[in-house]
Amino acid sequence: MENNRIIDLCWHDDETKALLNKCAEEAGFAIEYGRLKGRTEQDLIDSVKGYMAVIAGDVERFTRPVLEAIKDDMRAVMRFGVGYDKIDTVAAREFGIDVIVAGGGNSTAVADIAVMYMLALGRQICNFDKEVRAGVWKRRRSPQLFGKTVGIIGFGRIGRIVASYLSGFKCKILVYDKYLTKNVFARYGVQESTMDEIARTCDYITLHTPLTPETRGMIDKEFLSKMKPTAYLINTSRGPVVNQADLFEALSNDVIAGAGVDVFDEEPIARDNPLLTLDNIVLSPHVAYNTNEANALSSEILIDNLSKALKGEYCEDIVNP
Ligand code: NAD
Repeated sequence: MENNRIIDLCWHDDETKALLNKCAEEAGFAIEYGRLKGRTEQDLIDSVKGYMAVIAGDVERFTRPVLEAIKDDMRAVMRFGVGYDKIDTVAAREFGIDVIVAGGGNSTAVADIAVMYMLALGRQICNFDKEVRAGVWKRRRSPQLFGKTVGIIGFGRIGRIVASYLSGFKCKILVYDKYLTKNVFARYGVQESTMDEIARTCDYITLHTPLTPETRGMIDKEFLSKMKPTAYLINTSRGPVVNQADLFEALSNDVIAGAGVDVFDEEPIARDNPLLTLDNIVLSPHVAYNTNEANALSSEILIDNLSKALKGEYCEDIVNP
């Protein structure tokens, strides 16, 4: 291979770098680790030009001009995860660049966090923790997850694992996925549903769609106003799938009981974001994917996918074939 150089812009820790290095070396690639010096298109071009592949983080925008500037050497723009909403996949295809994800690498990790939020929100564990530390001993009642109705919006890799975890809690599971055929729902023992029915009937609603023009803002004031005042919303997908101002309104006015949010419009979340003032929201810094196990699996999948792509073999994780 003439040019075997991969640049990783993901700020990976040493342990993940070691995993990636091992997989890459075995496959004949050499990975270098870099950090963007700024957020302009030129900064990104300067950081990745000359490499054969890049492992992109979730802030870099691979726009048409960026892709055009790097097209001579670049064979693949890769994500260590599965979201690729900041990459112009159509332009990439025009310039002969594969956009590759590590499909399934972090699905169980994200499913963990989604179910964790259901339990933490319902049982109010974060508020109890704060109160006990502050010397407050209030033994409030709280709802169990067992036997509740859960809505899953987006029933791909992560949504299906969430459903399998929840079967242990004997939950009734309603699913909305615009692009699946009916037999998929039956195969996973879930009930096909609509956005409207999910909003009106579910105790917990968890989002697992990609961010696309269709899903941007799909959880808005109208949807939230249909939810039960006792219901919880969980977003581990992408921040803009939920209209953040509408979510703030709904939480402030007790339209819904609470929310668990791992992903935001702006990351890191601004210090003065009004969501930070609320007691009925539990937050995490876009870490749902980030486990030892997921990093190991994602490293293997990603390097394997790159090898297949370069050999012209079929790979379902090339999202712009
Ligand atoms: P996937 O592609 O396997 O599944 C997504 C599902 O959403 C598909 O079944 C698709 O048909 C469905 N969908 C697409 N558009 C829809 C629409 N308009 N309405 C309803 N359903 C729609 O993806 P996945 O691996 O399950 O990941 C889902 C998303 O989770 C990713 O795109 C990413 O944005 C997010 N994610 C977040 C983290 C994190 O750390 N927070 C980690 C991994 C993935």
